[in-house]
Amino acid sequence: TTGSTTMASLKKSTKLQNVCYDIRGPLLKTAVQMEAEGQRIIKLNVGNPAPFGLEAPHEILRDVSMNLPEATGYSDSQGIFSARKAVLQYYQSKGLLSAVDVRDVYLGNGVSELIVMTMQALMDDGDEVLIPMPDYPLWTAAANLAGGKAVHYRCNEDDNWHPDIEDIKAKITSKTKGIVVINPNNPTGALYSDDVLKQLIEVAKAHDLVLMADEIYDRVLYDDCVHTPMSTLTDDVLVLSYNGLSKSHRIAGFRAGWLMVSGKKQHATDFIEGLDMLASMRLCSNVQGQYAIQTAMGGYQSMQALTAESGRLYKQREMAVSRLNAIPGISCTMPQGAFYCFPKIDLDIYPIQDDMQFMMDLLLEEKVLMVQGTGFNWDTPDHFRVVFLPNLHDLEDAMDRLDRFFAKKRQQ
Ligand code: PLP
Repeated sequence: TTGSTTMASLKKSTKLQNVCYDIRGPLLKTAVQMEAEGQRIIKLNVGNPAPFGLEAPHEILRDVSMNLPEATGYSDSQGIFSARKAVLQYYQSKGLLSAVDVRDVYLGNGVSELIVMTMQALMDDGDEVLIPMPDYPLWTAAANLAGGKAVHYRCNEDDNWHPDIEDIKAKITSKTKGIVVINPNNPTGALYSDDVLKQLIEVAKAHDLVLMADEIYDRVLYDDCVHTPMSTLTDDVLVLSYNGLSKSHRIAGFRAGWLMVSGKKQHATDFIEGLDMLASMRLCSNVQGQYAIQTAMGGYQSMQALTAESGRLYKQREMAVSRLNAIPGISCTMPQGAFYCFPKIDLDIYPIQDDMQFMMDLLLEEKVLMVQGTGFNWDTPDHFRVVFLPNLHDLEDAMDRLDRFFAKKRQQ
């Protein structure tokens, strides 16, 4: 038969309606297009250390390559024993308060996969989870994708970006299932005090909430700061601890992450069954990456050489923050961890309505790609995130361009 049938256009599922991940969103699409046209773009949208010459420790590469013949098949769904054991020992050496064994550790394709799995296991339609604002946006995206609702609690810039405990309390409802804590934080670089962590635990305990502690930057610390894992402060709240090697060992491409379940596990057997099921459904995480974990966990931590006063990341942080603060109408809190800062833009000087468009202008005019604050679920178009991973020379170039861009905007 001839004749044409009109096809309805294929739509994405409605599940994706409230799902957003702007770190690799429309700005990146434009940047890739510009690159295809032969333009050089300084891409400061992703916290991926390797492309900036921050090499993985050689012992890790050696270990992974030596174990390659062993890593060709699927592993146990939760991961290989030696890696899971090393993860347990890591927390135990830091003073883990509750009893755990290897069954409490799940290896994942990065923390990312484990975040998505957790939300799928935890959330029924309409359930709520408290997520920081600003946040690492995968948390919000994963909660919404699971049919839940991300409810954002405020972190206070005036208080070194610490979580606002009163705001958290005010936003708890009968539907709240848990609280997400990102410490050290992306995008603000904040490191939380033990006092604040204990207050968060008290709130979780009082309302029987799960604490989800994303601690992927726990080894990326400046100024002799010390990080306290949430799991070392409580044994009577269910704590899910997330970490991995993408940042501390600069092997984001190996997709090596883990989740440890600790604390009040006895009332969570059904939820844990759900996690087991989801871990089985994706068979296992990248096995080559799993082989990096045991070597990475103990001994010399090369990240420390990069964040010490003489180290590359330390110097880059100093430059980024001082160059940003020197721009009229920009103020930037000093990050104590990770490799980001989240400067504030004075809207009286720069009357921005749409901060994604503002960052698009920066990309088109100065060929620098950065992500707007609302991409981190910040509620006002007055922030943006700077990734200070490039070496000093390239960072200086990026800052010169930023300087020129803001100067032009002041004259408009
Ligand atoms: N959590 C935070 C706070 C992050 O910044 C990132 C990556 O940028 C991730 C999780 C995901 O990391 P991965 O999936 O590489 O372990």
